[in-house]
Amino acid sequence: MRTPVPDYLAEVLDDVAGDRSGAVADYIPDLAAADPEVLGVAVTTVAGRTHVAGDADVEFSIQSISKPFAYAAALADRGVETVDATVGVEPSGEAFDELSLEAGTRRPKNPMINAGAIAVHHLLVGPDATGADRVERIVGLLSELAGRRLTIDESVYRSELDTADRNLAIAHMLRNYRVLDRPAAEVVDGYTRQCAVLVTVRDLALMGATLANAGVHPVTGRRMLPAAVARRTLSVMAGCGMYDGAGDWLVRVGIPAKSGVAGGLLGALPGQVGLAVVSPRLDAHGNSVRGVQVCERLSRDTGMHLMDAEPYGSTVLRGSTVDGDATVVTLQGVVQFSGAEAVLDHLAVEPIGTTEVVLDLTRVDRLSDVGRRMLLEGLRRLADDGHTVAVVDPDGVLPDPELGDGTRPRVRT
Ligand code: GLN
Repeated sequence: MRTPVPDYLAEVLDDVAGDRSGAVADYIPDLAAADPEVLGVAVTTVAGRTHVAGDADVEFSIQSISKPFAYAAALADRGVETVDATVGVEPSGEAFDELSLEAGTRRPKNPMINAGAIAVHHLLVGPDATGADRVERIVGLLSELAGRRLTIDESVYRSELDTADRNLAIAHMLRNYRVLDRPAAEVVDGYTRQCAVLVTVRDLALMGATLANAGVHPVTGRRMLPAAVARRTLSVMAGCGMYDGAGDWLVRVGIPAKSGVAGGLLGALPGQVGLAVVSPRLDAHGNSVRGVQVCERLSRDTGMHLMDAEPYGSTVLRGSTVDGDATVVTLQGVVQFSGAEAVLDHLAVEPIGTTEVVLDLTRVDRLSDVGRRMLLEGLRRLADDGHTVAVVDPDGVLPDPELGDGTRPRVRT
């Protein structure tokens, strides 16, 4: 059998292909030469499988889609306090290239508009980094995420730098308010190179899948970013990624996303997929017209929307049986707060007539940190009540099950 997923993606592209509205960006002369007909989509699951349709191997400049990754790198390099002191996380409700700062703090409002992204670029690596160090940091990270060495489109870079008056104005404004401590021209040069990195939708979907997978690369299994950094980056994408179209986007699509003026669009749905679309004609917000349509369609058809929740908790407690003098409580799936709560509630409410209580974790795929702490506390309380406690854990999902008082449950494999 051939998996139907790519056929589905091709069908989605077919449906939007006829829409020729919008216009390619022309404020960067080189972008005006882009083929407006290019249309491609890629989806990468957090298990590392990629499905594509259309122009999945056509390269285009990443542009603003580099911003969430630069933000993530700056968080990893400089820590959240330094980054927070430099740039906010509030949706701006303004165009991407607005010359504006937050009243009071004089920080750029968020890292997804140019003012914030220029400030973030200058934070990369460390205070003593050179312009080249910062560029290598971001190109290196993007390359590792894409699983191949990415290059800078020199012609796009030069074309944008030649006409970068607005970004230079933003950088001078930032320097005036001491947000930047490097020369405006040096930072804009590096930021412009960052934007000129060539990618395909295949690359972007893979990059997005790392964000969706809490910072772990879905193919290599390597941790690329701390989980807290991936979460913060996705949060900012959800609020600010689509510029002044962000609220509408969150309601209609509900996938943290970032668009770029070359027509790329990246989405990442936590725990599920990274996805990317390319189609160079843009709407009034500077977002790809057909890219937005493809994402709307995917979200609607597949239920991929941040606010579409599955009832995790109720499925964790598989059953409870009495086996001789033991009550065996069987758990399954992924145990987070609500699943552990259901198990603890069962143990608290159902009368236990046996000496021993066994938690059978054989079918548990993963215990979150809170799930682990809650189950251990439950076992400790059962032991306090006079029960002997045991776990069946052949895969070691509950390593080192110390009950907080030096004792441990009996472990059966
Ligand atoms: N390099 C572009 C700029 O700074 C990025 C803007 C974008 O993709 N929205 O103007």
